Amino acid sequence: MDKKGILLVISGFSGAGKGTVVNRLMEKYDEYALSISMTSRSPRPGEQDGVNYFFVSREKFEKTIAENGFLEYAEYCGNYYGTPKEFVNKQLEAGKNVILEIEIQGATNIKKVFPESLLIFITPPSAEELEKRLKGRGTETDEVIAKRLRRAYEESDGMDTYDYIIVNDDLETCVEDVHSTTMVARNQPLRLHGFIENMKTQLEMFK
Ligand code: 5GP
Repeated sequence: MDKKGILLVISGFSGAGKGTVVNRLMEKYDEYALSISMTSRSPRPGEQDGVNYFFVSREKFEKTIAENGFLEYAEYCGNYYGTPKEFVNKQLEAGKNVILEIEIQGATNIKKVFPESLLIFITPPSAEELEKRLKGRGTETDEVIAKRLRRAYEESDGMDTYDYIIVNDDLETCVEDVHSTTMVARNQPLRLHGFIENMKTQLEMFK
């Protein structure tokens, strides 16, 4: 069987709790690796270079594009965001399932380059619950909350693009749903060409 890991793209509305789901997944299982994106946006208070993102200038970002250093990149709200290629390829070869926490445009591009990747969209059970969670954080102004909800409405249009929609109602259940979906996706025939061909050759002696 193919030992190579799976490329797991996780997207979801702001406030869906996808960051918590990813952290818990990494904590529970050691077969996952999280890709750190490069961005041209400035760090927010508390964010660290090399932990949350690799924070770079627009010039450096554009140089990396020219060097073909990204698996995908997108411009989002006036800033560049991209997935560095080298880390992802190395970790996949080492058998890790590599998680990309990226927005929909990037997810769509990944699916084009890696048809065998797994696209998961994490959502709260309802719009009402999403609003409650955003308000419950207590850190955002009403204006910011309204902006995020409007964006959620726009992003809901892209939910059909994903392979699976997973509801984050109870955290542990959601983490287990993501994990078992990943385990199943590892066995897609699309990823197991070598194994299938080998089996066919072996079975030829019985024809
Ligand atoms: P934020 O500025 O809030 O950290 O991120 C804005 C959006 O960019 C989020 O939806 C996040 O998932 C997405 N994002 C982060 N890294 C990447 C990346 O490497 N590629 C793409 N396409 N989107 C990314």
